[in-house]
Amino acid sequence: MQTYDVIIVGGGPCGLAAGIEAAKAGLSHLILEMGSLTESIRQYPRRMRFFSTAENIEIGGLPFAISDVKAGRDEALQYYRKAAAYYHLNFELFKEVWAVRKEADWFVVTTTAGEHFQARKVIMATGYFTRPRWLNIPGENLPHVSHYYDEPFKYSFTNVVIIGGSNSAVEAALELYRHDVHITVVHRGDDFRSTVKYWLVPDVKNRVKEGKIKTAFNACVTQIKEKSVLINDLKTGTETELPADFVLVLTGYIPDADLLRRCGIELDPVTQVPTYNKENFETTVPGLYVCGTVMAGIYTEKVFIENGREHAQAIIDHIMGREVHKVAELIQRI
Ligand SMILES: Cc1cc2nc3c(=O)[nH]c(=O)nc-3n(C[C@H](O)[C@H](O)[C@H](O)COP(=O)(O)OP(=O)(O)OC[C@H]3O[C@@H](n4cnc5c(N)ncnc54)[C@H](O)[C@@H]3O)c2cc1C
Repeated sequence: MQTYDVIIVGGGPCGLAAGIEAAKAGLSHLILEMGSLTESIRQYPRRMRFFSTAENIEIGGLPFAISDVKAGRDEALQYYRKAAAYYHLNFELFKEVWAVRKEADWFVVTTTAGEHFQARKVIMATGYFTRPRWLNIPGENLPHVSHYYDEPFKYSFTNVVIIGGSNSAVEAALELYRHDVHITVVHRGDDFRSTVKYWLVPDVKNRVKEGKIKTAFNACVTQIKEKSVLINDLKTGTETELPADFVLVLTGYIPDADLLRRCGIELDPVTQVPTYNKENFETTVPGLYVCGTVMAGIYTEKVFIENGREHAQAIIDHIMGREVHKVAELIQRI
């Protein structure tokens, strides 16, 4: 079995930042990633733009030079790939980690394929994007239902029902409406969420006013059928049936709590926030750390690349026994 100073589980921006800090400190490291490099970003809507300015999502001190202020998906994929290559990061792709177990002074990291890797320290940087929040309603696993939105052309001239009221739902609704898609947004609240990016609000509200994007607020989808959805009005209790060639369930994502528990990490039973040291990100298992959005539990909007990338330096400082880099105030909200 190959052994490393540090194994990092997850090759997203925060996992890569951890790999870079480990490499800079002269630690042997391995990043185990269940998909491609920065798999979560690869699965983002093709034409999305980050809300952060490019320099705020840089890692390893490498400039993210683009002609615009904010990067798109492809530019981010290029940037993180180049960063990984520049720092000669050591990673194995398409290896899904099943569990981490401590044996005396070593951690044994086991993949779903049954491979084992050994390290003195392990950093969990598995994010949240692999785990959609399922509604658990009949029909949710039908082939025309997706928990991810990729691009608009597939849906032109069809009826699409979007479930959700946050940024992903609003962004998808606006893009789809502009590609001749008949959109209905179903959301249990009485309006779009207050967290929707302020610059999207007038656009979506005006399209709703014009009747170009239809909404069913205070409502939930109770069943998905092959060509329709059943909607329950939460105020009146009445049920209606809407045509739906496709259904996009954009109700958010949540870190894989089962994985963390299998690694021995304690989680708050309600918020699913892991117990960890707020300065060095070590969990209740000595030598096992959380890094990036995985530490957010249900509060996934509070830890993102801008603040999550900073965990890496604090963790590696702690591993090296150095003075620990103080992370930004923002993170301490959890
Ligand atoms: C549309 C959209 C726009 C966004 N815009 C911004 C923005 O402008 N600015 C910003 O700061 N944040 C933004 N975010 C949030 C940000 O992208 C995430 O918070 C960020 O990716 C978190 O980085 P991470 O490395 O912690 O996790 P991820 O990027 O999710 O990386 C985790 C990696 O771990 C892998 N993984 C998961 N489980 C396993 C396993 N068991 N074994 C091995 N590998 C595993 C995953 O495949 C993934 O590649 C946006 C998010 C979305 C959805």
